[in-house]
Amino acid sequence: MRRKAAALRPPPTSEEQLARMRAHVRASCEDRPGIYRMHAADGEVVYVGKSKRVRTRLLSYFRCAYPEEKGARILREAVRIDWEYVPSEFAALLLELQLIKRYRPRFNVAMKRDARHFAFIKITRGPAPKLVVVRGASDDSAVYYGPFHGAQRVSESVRELNDVLGLRDCTLDRRMHFADQQELFQLTPRTPGCIRFEVRKCLGPCVGGCTERQYAERLALARAFLDGADDGPIEALRREMEASSERLEFERAAALRDKLRRLEDLKEQFLRFRFGVETLSFRYTVPGHDGDDRVYLIRRGRVRAAFPAPRTAAERAAIDRASAEVFGRAERETAQVPTHEIDELLLISSWFRRFPEELERTVPASEGTLGRIYIIPERNAPAERIA
Ligand code: SF4
Repeated sequence: MRRKAAALRPPPTSEEQLARMRAHVRASCEDRPGIYRMHAADGEVVYVGKSKRVRTRLLSYFRCAYPEEKGARILREAVRIDWEYVPSEFAALLLELQLIKRYRPRFNVAMKRDARHFAFIKITRGPAPKLVVVRGASDDSAVYYGPFHGAQRVSESVRELNDVLGLRDCTLDRRMHFADQQELFQLTPRTPGCIRFEVRKCLGPCVGGCTERQYAERLALARAFLDGADDGPIEALRREMEASSERLEFERAAALRDKLRRLEDLKEQFLRFRFGVETLSFRYTVPGHDGDDRVYLIRRGRVRAAFPAPRTAAERAAIDRASAEVFGRAERETAQVPTHEIDELLLISSWFRRFPEELERTVPASEGTLGRIYIIPERNAPAERIA
């Protein structure tokens, strides 16, 4: 079990051990970008961190004045520190993310702001899948759309989408009985489902109100809407609203107008999200410590390949080939992001939000093969910019 009961944890690190760890950092650690790991007595990695200056950061842990400070709490449980150098702060962030995913250190899990803080629309599995709004995206086998801010607003929009398409939203884990399974289950088609079935907001897959295929078609419409490929649900509501208006049913028309707005709001959020993701596609050259520059091929907010900045024509050609492969591959524009890539997408978008000037070092994938990639003729010599 990953989470240990406090009672089973080893006693706090002794002052002697802390002094040994501090001496080790002072004697061996360099002030350059890197990641560090704090290990407990039983080998558990309790914390992973990163810094532009690892030595300075690590020594700051030993200066914590109050026992409740984060650094002091981590040190109380750590008996060993190790570190790894990387070329830049950007590289350190990427490696830190990988290590946190690998070790799930309890101090990181408690403190880190990650995908769990965002809302996602999840498509559940099993017969009659449904759309639900969840915090975080942890189920690798499920389909997620997002991340989004404002779970409440997204939930309201998803409710409208479910109503328009007749998708189920019940929390009950009840067995589904499709109409084409009637003989099998000896059900009458009108066995009461719930009020949503009675008011025609749900196709009623639990009570034989639709066939499995009919339900799957509606779900496909929902996915097409979330992918931005089909406006059917919005058009259906608009037609209904206009018809109500023509019949002088103004109250109903007003209610439909509000529903329409919520769906349009969802569509708008998806458009903004897709646009945001698509703009995070470029080659990014990052100056590194001691001339160790790197070129990252980033597509749709995820690092697809990384190379040392080229020093020879052969190395440049290798990056060009990789670029053609990464950016030339057909990929659908969608707000659906693979679960295991969501944290990286959040990390990269937050990096360029915090440091917009870094966009100056990027070259759109559509530009010439070399763009603004730098060649470094030899270590420590000034970089020569190509193009
Ligand atoms: S009709 Fe059945 S499947 Fe639909 S929401 Fe109600 S209980 Fe769920």
